[in-house]
Amino acid sequence: MQTNGNGIMNRYVLVLNQSYEPVMVTNAKRAVILVLLDKAEEVVHYDEEIHSPSTTMPLPSVVRLSRYVHIRSRGIVLTRKNIFKRDNHRCQYCGTTSVPLTLDHVHPRHRGGKDTWENLVAACHPCNVKKGNRLPAEAEMPLRRKPHKPSRITYFQKFVRRRQAAWRPYLYMEPVS
Ligand SMILES: [Zn+2]
Repeated sequence: MQTNGNGIMNRYVLVLNQSYEPVMVTNAKRAVILVLLDKAEEVVHYDEEIHSPSTTMPLPSVVRLSRYVHIRSRGIVLTRKNIFKRDNHRCQYCGTTSVPLTLDHVHPRHRGGKDTWENLVAACHPCNVKKGNRLPAEAEMPLRRKPHKPSRITYFQKFVRRRQAAWRPYLYMEPVS
């Protein structure tokens, strides 16, 4: 397959499972093969096109596997330090990075909230006190982003540049609506 010669076949492509969960980041060359073999379908494409003598296709940016693939996840350990790291040492309510952080249970512990990646976020002390024993909605303190287990996703997020803006919803990088 001919390319424009500017390395577009090395462009990053996000591969989603059939369930739309991110599975891996690969290059356009491998993604195109998956699409041509009907092992994946294009979900989002870049502006460029790929030309061959017989066909022209858009350069894939996000593809989705046709069949569900079981992934054995090697998870990151749930610790205070790793939660702060995941949250970029930023209070998930007001956004400050300039004060010492505490751990906040999004769904309060006293009301059954668990110690999980999805329920623990970094919060500055004033926000933690202000929120108290309430849910974010009750306290009118929306989270800046939905907390998730890092590992794979965090790793994939590091590939996102301006060109990969379309990946953001698939990598939970858009604010919770
Ligand atoms: Zn705060």
